[in-house]
Amino acid sequence: AAKLDPLSGPRRFRETDAEEARRRVRMTHELKAALDNDEIVYHFQPQIDLTTGRCVGAEALVRWNHPLFGSQLPGRFIHAAEQTGMILNLGERGLAAVAAFARCVNAGRDRQLRFSINTSATEFLHRDMAEVVDRILGESSADPRWFTLELTESMLLNDTPGVLDAFRRLRRLGVGLSVDDFGTGYSSLRLLETFPMTEIKIDRSFVGELPSSESKMVIVRAVIDLGRALGLTVVAEGIETEAQRALLAEMGCPIGQGYLFGRPCDGESFVKNLGSQ
Ligand code: C2E
Ligand code: MG
Ligand code: MG
Ligand code: MG
Repeated sequence: AAKLDPLSGPRRFRETDAEEARRRVRMTHELKAALDNDEIVYHFQPQIDLTTGRCVGAEALVRWNHPLFGSQLPGRFIHAAEQTGMILNLGERGLAAVAAFARCVNAGRDRQLRFSINTSATEFLHRDMAEVVDRILGESSADPRWFTLELTESMLLNDTPGVLDAFRRLRRLGVGLSVDDFGTGYSSLRLLETFPMTEIKIDRSFVGELPSSESKMVIVRAVIDLGRALGLTVVAEGIETEAQRALLAEMGCPIGQGYLFGRPCDGESFVKNLGSQ
């Protein structure tokens, strides 16, 4: 378990103890200030029912509106947040923000939207996530059934004690559990048997090569069939072309996400784009 915990992870090449400590202290302060100054925000990317074309929800994606460097993608700071432990603060604040947004959006709708939130292994290692989610959603008066936590295969691979138990309690609350970037790890089938997942997201590295790659066609079709046979929701990510949309719909994939339907955008734009749907 310790191996996959970024808090005890490998250091940078030739970085001395003192340098590493200073870097972590600086990054911790910067992220703390960012949270205090409300520079950490969430963008929303629509998820579409591929048979009706309707928006059924959104994935929340974190952004850092840096005062000097502008909007920063998660690739620039999530790893540092994990290393410093700030991901724990960031994750809780993010959940509260997305819960408040979901409550606001769903207030005037008869078809409730579902919101997916990415989580890091660190959060499950250092927090009782079922307790955290229960408390935060309670404080926001948000229905747990509106939310799905996305996890990656790599985090499910290490036998973190307590994770399975946390998953079961999250499921009892009504929270969905999704395997993000499905197919990029190497123990997918075993984990679907072990953990009480509700959804798989086919990685965009597969979707992006449709329909030209014969092997990706076979794999995607098999994953959709597998997911459906197991009673899981299947989401195809990274749909960029009409040909990909049509193909995935024809293969029976229920939900899609990607630039074809919409790029991640701020909450206000997301609501505006929903229009009358
Ligand atoms: P992910 O969960 O697999 O998110 C999908 C990424 O693909 C997003 O990048 C999104 O902007 C991008 N994407 C969506 N549709 C398309 C498309 O049609 N084509 C292409 N080329 N790309 C598309 P983003 O926002 O940079 O997020 C990167 C990763 O950062 C996410 O991958 C997720 O693992 C992580 N992440 C994002 N937000 C959070 C968060 O709040 N907490 C944690 N722990 N991780 C996060
Ligand atoms: Mg994701
Ligand atoms: Mg993904
Ligand atoms: Mg990804």
